[in-house]
Amino acid sequence: MDFTLTNIPDFLPLAEIEKLQVALLKKQLRYIQVNSPFYKGKFSVEETEGISRISDLSGFFRTSKKDLAERTPEFLCAPKRELVEYVTTSGTTGKPVTIALSKKDLKRLAYNEARSLSIAGFTADDIVQITTTLDKGFMAGMAYYMGLTELGAAVLRAGQGSPEFHWEMIKQIQPTALIAVPSFLQKLGSSPSAFPHQIKKALCIGEPVRNQDFSDNQLSKNIAKYWDLDLRSTYASTEMATAFTECSEKNGGHLLPELIILEILDEHGNEVADGELGEVTVTPLGVEAMPLLRFRTGDLARKYSSPCACGRNTPRLGPIEGRLAQMIKLKGTAIFPSQIEDILHSFPTANPYLIRLESDENGMDAVSIELPETCTHEDMESLLVNLQARLRVKPSLKRSSVSEIQKALFRGESRKPKKIIDTRNGEN
Ligand SMILES: [Zn+2]
Repeated sequence: MDFTLTNIPDFLPLAEIEKLQVALLKKQLRYIQVNSPFYKGKFSVEETEGISRISDLSGFFRTSKKDLAERTPEFLCAPKRELVEYVTTSGTTGKPVTIALSKKDLKRLAYNEARSLSIAGFTADDIVQITTTLDKGFMAGMAYYMGLTELGAAVLRAGQGSPEFHWEMIKQIQPTALIAVPSFLQKLGSSPSAFPHQIKKALCIGEPVRNQDFSDNQLSKNIAKYWDLDLRSTYASTEMATAFTECSEKNGGHLLPELIILEILDEHGNEVADGELGEVTVTPLGVEAMPLLRFRTGDLARKYSSPCACGRNTPRLGPIEGRLAQMIKLKGTAIFPSQIEDILHSFPTANPYLIRLESDENGMDAVSIELPETCTHEDMESLLVNLQARLRVKPSLKRSSVSEIQKALFRGESRKPKKIIDTRNGEN
């Protein structure tokens, strides 16, 4: 693959797409086998050559976040002088990990993001304001920038900032699109500095904007109160260096077949049926410096393999429904903070918030929520009723000042708000 935007394989029949993926996968496995100290001895040449379908990958070694965190240097497949970029994982769960990229990996990343943005309807005619971090070792910010320029769109690297700052930039540059975290879009839209503009669409990162059935979630509805924006969700991570992005049909993020293999696995590592919930497990293709094999993301979602009405035959990944590490067991039922957040989003006064996952005196999971002083007693009562009725969660509620909550959200100089605090595994 030379990562140029021609011969896009999305529209091939599914069988042809699998054939292409199998060929690229075998190439990647041969490369890993020769170059990776970590994967040395974990699979044989015969096993690699024996692959004729994606499902043949099922017997291969699965890589955990722990493997990557504890033995990072062993994943390096390129000499140090060939590395051109270091990025860090966001550390949403667990400690941040450093990932190194070669020149070819950067090209691959730009290509990936250009492909992703083009699926989301971005073109060379767009002027795009990026409202996320572009430094601090953040891969995604850099990827958006490179992908947009690759596509020929114009970029305004506004980066993180207050709504006032962003409205000032909007006035000056008149962008047609934004790249943003959805909750920031809500904040920006509700800002007193807002004015009529020509922004038509936004690429949404970091938080889901759809429910499991692809209908708009509460956050998406909240944004719609302020803006008439065409929202497109994209999902990626530093480790996978590949995006799954929604097309105009908004029914899951399309897989880029020449860049990644996707498996949705149950707790025993077996592939679940199409449309069933499981752990997103990925094998990025064409990665040179730190390739990963069957990397377990810890994110839970569903895969849909039926052809899409947009004409693409590539499988789609549904919204992330939870993170395995943040699963809470309440009276035997598993729930995820994202479900609590969706209910919180229907209370405008309950923002910003913090969700704490704790162990009670009996070692059982418990939840507490910190809300701003602006949240009324009526809202707090109604919130409890809703949580009880829909999730059977009875959290303890506490009120703090907005500044205290903000400080906790960006603890440890985090480059994005961390709304979940999980004290069960030592984080504080
Ligand atoms: Zn589609």
